[in-house]
This record gives sequence, structure tokens and C-alpha cells, in this order.
Amino acid sequence: MKKFFLFLFTLLIALVVVLLFNTLQFQSKQLDIAGEASPEISKATLENFKNAIRIKTISFGDSIPLDTAQFYGFHRFLESTYPLVHEKLEREKVKDYSLLYKWEGKNTSTNPIVLMAHMDVVPVEPGTESLWSVDAFEGVVKNDTIWGRGTADDKMSLVSIMEAIEKLLSENFIPERTIYLAFGHDEEIGGNGAIAIASLLESRNIKADLVLDEGGIITVDKIPGITQPVALVGTSEKGYMSLELAVELSGGHSSMPASETAIDILTNAIVRLRANPFEADFSQSTNDFIEYIGPEQPFLQKMVFANQWLFKSTIVGIYEQTPGGNAMVRTTIAPTVINAGVKDNVIPTLAKATINFRILPGDTQESVKDRVVSVIDDPRVKISKLSFGNDPSTVTPVDGFGFKLVEAAARKTFDQVIVAPFLMVGATDSRHFGKVSDQIIKFSPMNDPIGFHGIDERISVKGFQDGIWFYQQLIKSIK
Ligand SMILES: [Zn+2]
Repeated sequence: MKKFFLFLFTLLIALVVVLLFNTLQFQSKQLDIAGEASPEISKATLENFKNAIRIKTISFGDSIPLDTAQFYGFHRFLESTYPLVHEKLEREKVKDYSLLYKWEGKNTSTNPIVLMAHMDVVPVEPGTESLWSVDAFEGVVKNDTIWGRGTADDKMSLVSIMEAIEKLLSENFIPERTIYLAFGHDEEIGGNGAIAIASLLESRNIKADLVLDEGGIITVDKIPGITQPVALVGTSEKGYMSLELAVELSGGHSSMPASETAIDILTNAIVRLRANPFEADFSQSTNDFIEYIGPEQPFLQKMVFANQWLFKSTIVGIYEQTPGGNAMVRTTIAPTVINAGVKDNVIPTLAKATINFRILPGDTQESVKDRVVSVIDDPRVKISKLSFGNDPSTVTPVDGFGFKLVEAAARKTFDQVIVAPFLMVGATDSRHFGKVSDQIIKFSPMNDPIGFHGIDERISVKGFQDGIWFYQQLIKSIK
């Protein structure tokens, strides 16, 4: 008995030693760069942003055509507001409304970089106008905050890029490498503009060492245990696919229903799918996130993150508790449309549903569809892919030129910020640039914006100021 306890005790000591050793080895990955406060912006600069908000470059969706006057108006706004950009950079219109600029660098033998943003915005949902504190397209500044549709998504990035470059041009600055600016006009409805720009660059054999598009933001108090702001720098993006499930059976009168109707079979299929979620796991970007965030955590959390061999399932379990966390660790299944029946006393012959999948890196559209077929396991349910979809992106390495450049610029701009790679759950235009670059970063340099796609979208004036500063820092530190 004594021997047994001695054995247990030794085991316990060994465990503690291993845990402590791994925790002490878990060193900070943050670059040793101090922040430089952003210079205050002029009234004119703020006015430029307000003017950008006032132009209604709305993507309504496939059934309603875009308002061409607004998009051409936005082009004219850029031309008149940023004269040096339009004098010194080449500009092409792609698919009429998207814009591609080229700013030639000193060294044309090294690969260029691409800065992206999109000029379109989502509509204000009909019926919610009165819930806004301001007119969504008035371009209002109050309480040191800029209000309006598109402030955060994504005119802030676009205007900040233009402001930064106009400023640098006024100082006769020439970048070390060539910089392309790629501004899509329909990101919110599939990104045909970005697709066309990407294939244009591809046809010219242009390989970029960085493509920087919208994505993660600077967030405060959202990550347990971390009190400093965190820059979430997207290094990969989930894939997207929708499947249609259809059941066709002879219908009939509802007074004499068969043991199973088309609706029964369809709903059973959906229930089976939802009851069999995809397996949870950490993708590479989430592993990288843990590597960057873990060492900054208080001791206990740090020990947990440093010892994934023991605690991985616990960490996954914590992720799974919230819809947002769950989306980070698995391919998600969301029934979004269901259709059947026309009359209360008629059993329909056709029942259909659309299921939307957001695919974790590691899975593909093909592998997801195969699994859906085997889980439903009912040949009466016809499963077909809806036209639009894409596999998850590749993962941008955190030790490459692209990530390092963004990381350094973030540290320089936002004092005390902790930079962390992460997996983007939403989709961006940059997903179309896989053949242009293997270093695609999804990061919007802004502090906790509010109201993405919703009511009272807004960002702080200071946030806008920091955004301009970020792009200046980034462009100036290109080697
Ligand atoms: Zn966006």
C-alpha cells in the first residue's frame, strides 16, 4: 500500500514538472517594437471619410441591379479627393466598377504587395431605418465617432489606404516594392470584381508577397485573461458551400397520409445532419492563435495552453460552448431555407431545403458533401450542390514576409497590442487571390467597430486616424 502511494506521488511530481517545464518554455512571440502614437488627422481628412459614406454604393443582391451612378460617383469622389494618387499611380477599371491601381516601387525585381478593400456596402435592412440614431448615409460625426453604413465595412480601409498614400506622395515617398490597390465593387454579393482583378493579375504573371484585405480587427476585453488590445490577423478563411436536399414523393390528400411524406423524410434528414456535427479540431490558424495568445495569458491559462497534450479536449470544449467559438473549431451546418406545400389539406409531392456549410480548413466541399450523403443515408433524399461555393483557403505562414510585415505595422501603430493569427469565419474578397499569392492576410486595422451589417454602424475618429497611420507604417516598412 505504501509503495503504491509512493508511486502515485512520484507520478504526480513528474506531471507537475512536465506541466511547469512546458509553461516556462511557452515564451512570448510578440515583436519587440514600441508603438508610435498616430498624428491627429485634419478636418479635411475627416470630411473625406464623411463624403465617402454619403455615396450609396450599395450591393442589393442578385435581383436588384447596382445603381451605376453611385459607383461612378464614388470613382469621381476618389479622383477629386486624391489628386496625387491619380497623378502618380496607374489606374484601371475592371468590370466597369472595380478599381486596380499600380504604384511602381523602386525595386521592380522583387514581388509586389496588394492592398485590398471593397467599395460596396450592404443595404440598410428595410424597416430598421428608424432604429438608427443617425441617417445611415448622412456621414455624421458625433461623440468622436463616425456613423454610417460602410464606416467599418469597408470604407474605412479603403479611405485609410487612399489617405495614407496621398500623404506619402505629398512627401515624394516612393515605396521599395510595387504596390497594387485592388478595390472590388461587389464583395457583399460574391466578389465578381475581385475575381476579375485576380485573374487580370494572374494573366500578367504577378505573384505578390502579401495580399492584405479586410478581416480581423483590434479587439479589447474579448479574449479571456488578456487585458491589452489584441490584433486578430486572419491567416486563413473557412470555405463555403450550400447543398440542396430535395425529396419527391407522390403526394395525395391529407385525410389519408402515407406513413412517411416528403416533408417527414426531408425533416428527418435535417435532424440527422444536425445530430451528427462535424468533428471538432484546431486548424493551423487556431494552433497559431494559441501559440501567440497562450504566452500572454495569466499563469493558469498559460499552463493549459502550453500543455495541449493533456488539455486539448478541455480547450476544444470551451470553444464549443459558444456559436462563435464552435465555428472556429469545426465545419458548421446551418439549415437556412425550407420549402414545401401549398395548401393545408394537400400533401406536397416535393419538399426542399438548403443547408449552408462553412468549411474548416482540412475539409473540402467534396469531403463535406460525401459525409452529408453518408450521414443522411437515404437515397430518397437527392443532394445537390448549389452553384456558388469555395474550399477553405490555404494557411498563410506566420514566419513569412507578409505576416511579418503586417505584424510589425500593427505593433508600431497600436501601442501594447498583442498580435495573434486567427481563422476567419466569414468570407472576404481575398479568397479569390489564391493564385496571386500564398501570403494572404485578412486584417482591418481598426479598434472594436460596432454594427457590422447592422444598425448604427460606426467607428471612432481615433480608430480612423490609427487606420491611416497603420497603412503608412506598413508601406514605409516594406523592404
Ligand atoms: Zn467587408
